[in-house]
Amino acid sequence: MEKLETIAIIVAAGRGARAGAGGPKQYRMLGQRAVIAWTAEAFLSHGDIDAVRIIIHRDDHNAYETAMGGLLAHPKLMPPVDGGVERQDSVRIGVESLEADAPAYVLIHDAARPFIDALAIARVIAALQTHDGAIAALPMHDTIKRAGKSAGADALIEATVPRNELWRAQTPQGFHFDKILGAHRAAQGKVLTDDAAVAEAAHMRVALVAGSPDNMKITQAEDFGMAEILLRRKVNEMEYRTGHGFDVHAFEDGNAVILCGVEIPHDKKLKGHSDADAGMHALTDAILGAIGEGDIGDHFPPSDPQWKGVASSVFLAKARDLVAERAGRITHCDVTLICEAPKIGPHREKMCAALAAILRIENSRISVKATTTEQLGFTGRREGIAAMATASVAVPV
Ligand code: MG
Repeated sequence: MEKLETIAIIVAAGRGARAGAGGPKQYRMLGQRAVIAWTAEAFLSHGDIDAVRIIIHRDDHNAYETAMGGLLAHPKLMPPVDGGVERQDSVRIGVESLEADAPAYVLIHDAARPFIDALAIARVIAALQTHDGAIAALPMHDTIKRAGKSAGADALIEATVPRNELWRAQTPQGFHFDKILGAHRAAQGKVLTDDAAVAEAAHMRVALVAGSPDNMKITQAEDFGMAEILLRRKVNEMEYRTGHGFDVHAFEDGNAVILCGVEIPHDKKLKGHSDADAGMHALTDAILGAIGEGDIGDHFPPSDPQWKGVASSVFLAKARDLVAERAGRITHCDVTLICEAPKIGPHREKMCAALAAILRIENSRISVKATTTEQLGFTGRREGIAAMATASVAVPV
């Protein structure tokens, strides 16, 4: 395996008692997806991050799988690891879990900061070239007061603290892997409030780099209000495009068809250059159409023997990557399969899951439907299967 240079650890093992009812905040919905899915995607889609390990509570495996959905199939995502009692224990366990991988750098990030942006991540990694550690942080602009003892309910000012030396620490906090591993082991039993404090205790040189004002930590129930506003702004920075795809494959003698990535036993198979998955071909064309990238044949010419018999997932993955290259997101896909037989209904859920895994999006963003043509036309005569698809894609304005 290729050496992993930089691994991100996302700490998601907290119980989130401060965020009120509704369970741990990292699994609560923010718009159409869970907080942890937004956070994970920021790192999974980052070009400087080679792998992502998420630390979860041992009781949260089901919640984790539901929240992550199609992201679970992301090739950069490592299996989750159960955390410890306190955050510091969870991070140490997470860092120790990477010992065999021995990356050069590790970035540690709170799951409850879903608005981390790609540039802040890149700044932290860049600073690791010259420092033992680097953290995203913001200088203080407010005047800072230290409160003294008060006789009544109100605090009294004891002093005004010079603010020019003060920064607010955010995450990610990045470190040289071997150094932070040693620092966390040495810090066991001491209570330190962040990983930079663990590094400081080990006399590591830790740089402050610019974080982002949007990189808020969802701590209390009230924070979801601000998070919704930030999410709406993020959504408003995107424009939405729709693409359409259509494909037909004829039947020939066989014993199964492959549709939307699922093999269905049948007394025929679909004839074609690749695996003849008409559903996946229509969807691939729909996504390519939404971003103006031509069609499947432009990217995988049927005249080229290297694509003979290839799984159609290769085509769909290519369309996904072209969307990602534009910093876009596939927001919804709708596929209609048109045939008299085989029966599609029993396989729909599996098809949605298969497509979601390739596209690395939640199952809920995929719809697969089937219809007949009332025994009319070529599909009605059972000569082949037709598929139509629509894809919606968000791309930056
Ligand atoms: Mg085709």
